[in-house]
Amino acid sequence: MMKEMSHVASCHATDCSYNRDSSCSTMAITVGGFGDSPQCSTFLHSTQKGGLQGIRGVVGACEASTCSHNTDRGCTAGAIAVDMNNSHPDCMTYSAR
Ligand code: SF4
Repeated sequence: MMKEMSHVASCHATDCSYNRDSSCSTMAITVGGFGDSPQCSTFLHSTQKGGLQGIRGVVGACEASTCSHNTDRGCTAGAIAVDMNNSHPDCMTYSAR
């Protein structure tokens, strides 16, 4: 059975190329590991806009194996929020096992 992928419900990394109106306009993001502070690895700092208008990104893969929503390097949260944490965009939906 095909699994539903988790959407990026909101993203406040407004200086990312793929950010449009606080949402993610690339097809899929990868979230990296880094313990209890997993970062969006797809973040691209640029004033030039990328992605596609009207697209709502999903989590294609996640390396944060310590997150309770992580199964087989995929995200089962349903929806995630990304926000800036110091200078990097983090998955704020992370929940330690
Ligand atoms: S909620 Fe957990 S599994 Fe989903 S993207 Fe965030 S860190 Fe990865």
